[in-house]
Amino acid sequence: MAQNEIKKVGVVGAGTMGSGIAQLFALYDYAVVLVDTDDSALGQALVNIRAHTDPHLWEQVEGRIRTSTALEDVREADLVIETVFEDPEVKKEILRKLSRICSRSAIIATNTSSISINELSQAVFGPSRFIGMHFMNPPKVIKLIEIVKGKKTSEETVSAVGWLAREMEKEPIVINDTPGFVSNRLLFALIGEAIRLLDSGVATKEDIDAVMKYGVQHPMGPFELADFIGLDIALSVMKYLYGELKDEKYKPSPTIEKLVKEGKLGRKTREGFFKYG
Ligand code: NAD
Repeated sequence: MAQNEIKKVGVVGAGTMGSGIAQLFALYDYAVVLVDTDDSALGQALVNIRAHTDPHLWEQVEGRIRTSTALEDVREADLVIETVFEDPEVKKEILRKLSRICSRSAIIATNTSSISINELSQAVFGPSRFIGMHFMNPPKVIKLIEIVKGKKTSEETVSAVGWLAREMEKEPIVINDTPGFVSNRLLFALIGEAIRLLDSGVATKEDIDAVMKYGVQHPMGPFELADFIGLDIALSVMKYLYGELKDEKYKPSPTIEKLVKEGKLGRKTREGFFKYG
């Protein structure tokens, strides 16, 4: 796929990230098909996108996004971004199906936050067209797209998605594959250590957040950020990094396991480390 041939985009998974990615592409006038197996997630995605779109741009955005529960509806897309649950087997199953549904020239990307691109590429037929496009939440606002190159990713694929990112006024940073990439190797080392400080009674979560906000000028403290990411996603990332890298600093604390078990997943369920009104 040559860079300026990308006109139609498929987004698979209409949760926090899928809805934000669909919104971003629609704002830049790409035709988007947004797919989810859960019909109510699609409805909720449109409500969320509308709530975060300038009213005078809503008509354009709404007109550019088509929703569907059928994966086959991405068949005409030039680029498909998978952004479902952070589970390697669920992702591989979708990637296998996308390999059959999409044209041979279409680029297939994943928005995984941690899973190795080389591992996921095993499920893709024609892995030279497979790449990591790691958007951050919310995609409309955050400047970075971490572009993750697998061993088999072609230079053509790298340059096409880099071009696309710049078209949407983003900063594409290309890195080689490693579990967690650069962003989450660093971020989850920080979040994990913040939870260990809390568990050992060194400081409250409010004070740990305040130290990082006022002392290191982070816009959010690690607990506020974990709630923002979603504690289920955060826990999956930690488990995956611990399993892959065997490094104790990624070992999830029972504190986060307990919150997830109780359904306290952060902002999206109005309670995580903190409560939200
Ligand atoms: P989410 O739980 O909000 O949404 C996931 C969506 O995927 C749900 O709507 C679900 O119905 C859908 N889904 C599940 N299986 C499906 C299938 N087989 N076909 C179609 N849809 C399916 O999750 P999220 O926070 O949007 O995360 C999605 C991906 O993005 C994960 O890989 C995550 O690691 C990554 N990511 C998340 C963040 C973040 O801050 N939340 C940031 C960067 C990357």
